[in-house]
Amino acid sequence: MDLTEIDSFDISADHLRKVVALTGAGISAESGVPTFRGEGGMWRQHRPEELATPQAFASNPQMVWEWYLYRRQIIAQSNPNAGHDALVELEKVLKDRFILITQNVDGLHRRAGHKNPIELHGNIFLNRCNSCSERYPDDTLDFDKLPPLCLNCQGQIRPDVVWFGEGLNHVTIEDAFLHSQQATLFLSIGTSAVVHPAAALPVVAKDSGALLVEINPDRTPITSLADAVFTDSSAQVLPDLVNKIKQIETKSKN
Ligand SMILES: [Zn+2]
Repeated sequence: MDLTEIDSFDISADHLRKVVALTGAGISAESGVPTFRGEGGMWRQHRPEELATPQAFASNPQMVWEWYLYRRQIIAQSNPNAGHDALVELEKVLKDRFILITQNVDGLHRRAGHKNPIELHGNIFLNRCNSCSERYPDDTLDFDKLPPLCLNCQGQIRPDVVWFGEGLNHVTIEDAFLHSQQATLFLSIGTSAVVHPAAALPVVAKDSGALLVEINPDRTPITSLADAVFTDSSAQVLPDLVNKIKQIETKSKN
């Protein structure tokens, strides 16, 4: 099913009782953020899959931090795009009836102005103690000597992200599943829908009765499940989709 015309996309006020969006690498790629994966993400002859692990941090925390600070620099050069902005707009319109879940660690949704995204894989601009899990904003830490140390327990501070071989935060993932089950409209945006458990969220939403919309130039495992598929970029589709939702919302209030 290939729907490219927003006008022919049929949704009603009923679908707006609870809207959940899941975003993945695609929306960040449109801002020029590299995926830092595979051969293309090589850094000082290391593959990302070798650096983003608890083992790498245990054996060389300084090197892992240098890589993350490099990634932060690259990401800081990118800006949120029209897709990120449209989702901020959607939050303003629907307020707590809109939940944003992201697989991205680049913090672009927050930079666009989104208040409280559920960040499944953490956020590269946040820090936490590897021993006691205390979280620290950048300005409370000393980055001159890497790794920075915990003010509570002297443990090593790490980026607050989920590494290869690590499980997701329980509370975060339970939250994401609960919201997806309650969704009346679920938007799957720029995600390949193959990395679990995030890949299960659109399926759970659909099984619980949500209208499932996919926005992705590429076909994914959920394309055949989706009620509507937009194959243009999210920066093109989301502003129009959010405008349409705003119109429906305005009408239903009058
Ligand atoms: Zn600590």
